[in-house]
Amino acid sequence: MEFKKLSDWGLGLPQSGSLIVAGPCSVESQGQMMRIGNELKDLDVHILRAGIWKPRSRPGSFQGVGLVGLEWLKEASLLTKIPCATEVATPQHVEQALNAGIDILWIGARTTVNPFYVQEIAEALKGIDIPVMVKNPINPDLELWIGSIERLYQVGIRSLMAIHRGFSTFKATTYRNPPMWEIPIELRRRFPTLPVICDPSHIAGNDLLVPEISQKALDLDFNGLMIEVHDVPDKAKSDADQQLTPKQLKSLLSELIYKSSSIKDIDFIIRLDALRSQIDSFDREIINLLAKRMNISKEIGIEKTENDVTFFQMDRWAQLFLDRVKATVEAGLSEQFAKDFIQSIHKESIRQQMEGIKKDTLLTK
Ligand code: PEP
Ligand code: MN
Repeated sequence: MEFKKLSDWGLGLPQSGSLIVAGPCSVESQGQMMRIGNELKDLDVHILRAGIWKPRSRPGSFQGVGLVGLEWLKEASLLTKIPCATEVATPQHVEQALNAGIDILWIGARTTVNPFYVQEIAEALKGIDIPVMVKNPINPDLELWIGSIERLYQVGIRSLMAIHRGFSTFKATTYRNPPMWEIPIELRRRFPTLPVICDPSHIAGNDLLVPEISQKALDLDFNGLMIEVHDVPDKAKSDADQQLTPKQLKSLLSELIYKSSSIKDIDFIIRLDALRSQIDSFDREIINLLAKRMNISKEIGIEKTENDVTFFQMDRWAQLFLDRVKATVEAGLSEQFAKDFIQSIHKESIRQQMEGIKKDTLLTK
């Protein structure tokens, strides 16, 4: 799939640098939208965001102002000359947003999870040239995220962007929605021309964590940020804890360090190449050592079969697990990495033992 560059979306978006999308979680009133819009127009904000229909987890909470909010959002956008975006979850939302002249639509995390909804939205957009931003599904399922993008692509939409907003979890964590960075990174590996921005507000769940997540996203070369901003966050009708004031956004934007993913300084290139070639050779060594280790696993597999012993023995595994995790942690690596690493080796080892047997019986036949 080939996607349109942000600068070709026809909305005057920048050719390079970080795209900044900002605005309240929800449109609450005409005055609120105007106040926020006016503050944002003096900052480097490229898209004004606001939700009209709010997909809330529990009934009884603020569900958004509905249709009238589209007018307020559009009005703030026209007066500030910042293109606007809102979330759509049904074909009816699409129709109403298009009628109101909204510039960009986005599909929320609770909608991306459902292929039926996404397909209906895609069909409502057939033949219409409007940019669409697709948030990741609330569950960490990359294929589902890609599937939503494909459904929109299939009806002809090329101005597409993905928004990484973290993934729901049952466990209490520092984050409201843990980022699991490896998922958007894999998305970008598979679709290099797809713009991907990060929504640190929904990942954080509180205003304090927003700066650090924003910087991390820029360090990982994301194309921009979507940040929730409210004139009086404490009084916000939705997501009060995570919204920044325009002033907070201003200082965040001035403090962020924008790094370059292309390297120009020649001395730096030489130093980097030297370090990378060491990494390349260590990786080869690790792979060769692992292959040697797995060959021993195969031999053990044959011995175990000949002696009618199961491939897996709990005692040995429990002892080995503790020992290797301890050694890895002592070597300065993280405990989580240590656990994942040894589990992954063990899984492959069992597979190799079984494989060894299959080959062995074939050879003796
Ligand atoms: C939002 O952007 O306000 C929103 C509802 O986000 P998400 O779909 O990521 O939960
Ligand atoms: Mn929100």
